[in-house]
Amino acid sequence: MRAVVMKFGGSSVIDGPAIDRVVSIVDRERTAGSAPVVVVSALGGVTDSLLALADGARTARKPLIAEALKSLTDRHFAEAARVAPSTAWLKDALQGHLDELRTALSAAIDTGGLAPSQADVVAAAGELLSSRIVAAAMEQRGLPAVWVDARDAIVTDETYTRATPLPEETAQASAALLQPVIDAGKIPILGGFIGRTVDGHTTTLGRGGSDYSAALVGSAIGAAEIQIWTDVDGMLTADPRIVADAEVVSHLSFVEAAELAYFGAKVLHPSTIFPAVSRNIPVRILNSHRPDGSGTLITAEPPVRSRPFAALACKRGITVIDITSTRMLMAHGFLRRVFEAFERNATAVDVVTTSEVSVSVTIDDNRRGADIVADLLEIADVTVEEQMAILTVVGERLTTHSALAARVIGALTGFPLRMISQAASRRNVTIVLPEAYLAPAMMHLHRELFAVAEPAR
Ligand code: ASP
Ligand code: MG
Repeated sequence: MRAVVMKFGGSSVIDGPAIDRVVSIVDRERTAGSAPVVVVSALGGVTDSLLALADGARTARKPLIAEALKSLTDRHFAEAARVAPSTAWLKDALQGHLDELRTALSAAIDTGGLAPSQADVVAAAGELLSSRIVAAAMEQRGLPAVWVDARDAIVTDETYTRATPLPEETAQASAALLQPVIDAGKIPILGGFIGRTVDGHTTTLGRGGSDYSAALVGSAIGAAEIQIWTDVDGMLTADPRIVADAEVVSHLSFVEAAELAYFGAKVLHPSTIFPAVSRNIPVRILNSHRPDGSGTLITAEPPVRSRPFAALACKRGITVIDITSTRMLMAHGFLRRVFEAFERNATAVDVVTTSEVSVSVTIDDNRRGADIVADLLEIADVTVEEQMAILTVVGERLTTHSALAARVIGALTGFPLRMISQAASRRNVTIVLPEAYLAPAMMHLHRELFAVAEPAR
């Protein structure tokens, strides 16, 4: 049997009609001869509400909490009644999860704080509820759905709110739990994002973690494919809010997809990549609102395509820090001291360019910017520019195309390019420029690189 993991994000299960679409999509996959395993996110927006509730519990605003809890309860019961009016077990199951949620919140109010482990009990409620509703909806439509508690499948460490799955334990537990259901010709449905420690405490994998769950489960059962169903047609050749005629990239390598995700293409959670990569399992990104599209296929091997570029990606709100020190000319240890300043302040550096006496770096997260600058001032002159943007061209085969950087930079003649970097691996050419120029630069570059047919080589 060809096992296929089908993961549906929050926007794909946002309400009754969306859930009905999910059921049809799974039904179609099964009719085509696959054995689906379904992983779902919380109903769209629910995780945000739960995290707000967890925050509220810390400040113990009782009436507000009661109100928020009631609206969450009403929403889930209303959608449940819509998609599974005659599934007898559903109400009790939902009530059970809601009771657990209420208990965690009231304990927090009583003790004046929410322990991290209890915060995860709160956050996990969304996926527990949504997976129950989707399982019931499938049952209602006559599909042999079996709800599975994802916490029995994903075994994690104790880093609450950002737990790391233990690979071997998870592979074993997932296979032991899911394989018998698949073998019996049934469809397991489980929530993404959630897991449990070896000691039995509920954990979550961090925002967007359902993709990760899908990849873990898929690699555990040796799935033929992992489908990430979302609300866009796939990875695009550019940001569609900037480039109206951006096209779906039909096929990307894992490396390209990870690179694009890193540089701001929000479609895929980068961690999704790793468990799937290790087992050579293809990942397909699909649109649950337009299920007939072919989406974007992501495989370990780069595809053969007519042009060397895969896509453009961008990131706004970037800060550039220029670090110059003539004193450090020829001295060793300068770069180490520069990077220690970022390390001490737990800030990741994205793009780096260097010359003999200066280093320019970009950071995405500027919250510790003042501390970083203070540290750097001890060893160098520092200037900071905010509201910058990264624009990057990604393609795994750039290696074979030495003129590419020249072409990219040539296409951007006249734009104020602050940094230019081509990684040694040449999987991307990256430009840093003021945010105000990002949109015209991306439009221009897209037209130059993607709108024209590549000459035969
Ligand atoms: N519901 C979680 C979130 O919103 C996990 C996910 O959707 O992947 O972050
Ligand atoms: Mg979500």
